Amino acid sequence: MKNLALHWKILIGMALGIIFGFVMNNIDGGKGFVTDWIKPFGTIFINLLKLIAVPLILASLIKGISDLKDISKIKKMGFRTIGIYLSTTIVAVIIGLGIVNLVKPGTGMSIDTISKIKEKYATSSGVTDKLTKAGAQNDAGPLQALVDIFPSNIFKAFTDASMLQIIFFALFVGISLLLISEKKAKPLVDFFDSLNEMVMKMVDLIMLFAPYAVFALLANVIIAFDDTEILVKLLSYALCVLGGLLLMITFYLTLVSIYTKKSPIWFLKQISPAQLLAFSTSSSAATLPVTMERVEEHLGVDKEVSGFVLPVGATVNMDGTSLYQGIAAVFIMQVLWPEGLTLSNQLVIIGTSVLASIGSAAVPSAGIVMLVIVLETIGFPAEFLPIGIALIFAVDRPLDMCRTVVNVTGDATVSMLVAKSLGKLKENPQPKNWDDNYDKVK
Ligand code: ASP
Repeated sequence: MKNLALHWKILIGMALGIIFGFVMNNIDGGKGFVTDWIKPFGTIFINLLKLIAVPLILASLIKGISDLKDISKIKKMGFRTIGIYLSTTIVAVIIGLGIVNLVKPGTGMSIDTISKIKEKYATSSGVTDKLTKAGAQNDAGPLQALVDIFPSNIFKAFTDASMLQIIFFALFVGISLLLISEKKAKPLVDFFDSLNEMVMKMVDLIMLFAPYAVFALLANVIIAFDDTEILVKLLSYALCVLGGLLLMITFYLTLVSIYTKKSPIWFLKQISPAQLLAFSTSSSAATLPVTMERVEEHLGVDKEVSGFVLPVGATVNMDGTSLYQGIAAVFIMQVLWPEGLTLSNQLVIIGTSVLASIGSAAVPSAGIVMLVIVLETIGFPAEFLPIGIALIFAVDRPLDMCRTVVNVTGDATVSMLVAKSLGKLKENPQPKNWDDNYDKVK
């Protein structure tokens, strides 16, 4: 077990967690046991990852920018990153819409199933909560998202873990450091360099705990499923989303192998621990420290690129989410409002899904909240909204887990592409281990 690669250990943890969850589902008091005694270990793990995310983004971006030593390179990197992110997201929605229009998973649904789902979920707190959250998002003015990037109090940005605000601050600090004399900048640059090394070591240490944490996280997901009958009814919709997500992964692998000449298998092997954590946590934000560690140390992307591309990506680049939003919107319309399925509405869905995925937070089930806004934009009848969301609610968690894997893989892919284009991709990356210095201090 000791010499097993990390992704295998995590996979074993996941499999055991799923089995344990199923067993506990069928034992009296099993669910309570998982909630009280198993779930907290998953929560501790996610807390630890969140704990180091803010110092990690800050240190790695400031150090990275000061290493670039050239403001025109920063501009180039910024434009390329945003350009590629937007393009892959548009590809994702188009793939999603293509599949859902071809397969038409919503057309065969019986009235009986619809009323059953409506009865069970339309007034459930899960669904009403998503609708309320979407209402709050919608009330903001058109430029609010832009205003939100600029913090007025950096400590508040840290405590709220407002990723875009922290990225802005780090860029601001990094660029200002470039503009003062090297002698004056050095102490701060060295400080952030050392902070970055230390936080990366923390990631290695936290990952020692990952196989046990995913056991807890997955056991907890399994005990939440209680209606397998409805899951089966939604199978063709779920398979459309899964098929689309798989196509997206294939698209990324093709991009990586054509543009960086690296083998897709190698890429998957290096990034897999981050993918498995994305699956287990359903949160690209919680996975971010691990994604950064894998991309920098295992895929060989220089800090100056990964420190910018990955935190930005975790916040704005969600290809899995946009693909899902496209499919879910059309599926709901096929079932409840087929007359709304015009070409112009589908074009609006492409635009709004891209924007909605940019606006989705990198946390579990953010995608379904923004889906409400996509539906509202095309004039979906308000009285059907709770039923529409109820329709897909039962399968949302497993699909969320899968779309988060795609979101994280997309970020890693784009960081490889941007790094290659700037000559910042190492040929032979040398990963660090948690115990590289252990012998000297034990
Ligand atoms: N859970 C996704 C993420 O964190 C967002 C979503 O699609 O709900 O990337």
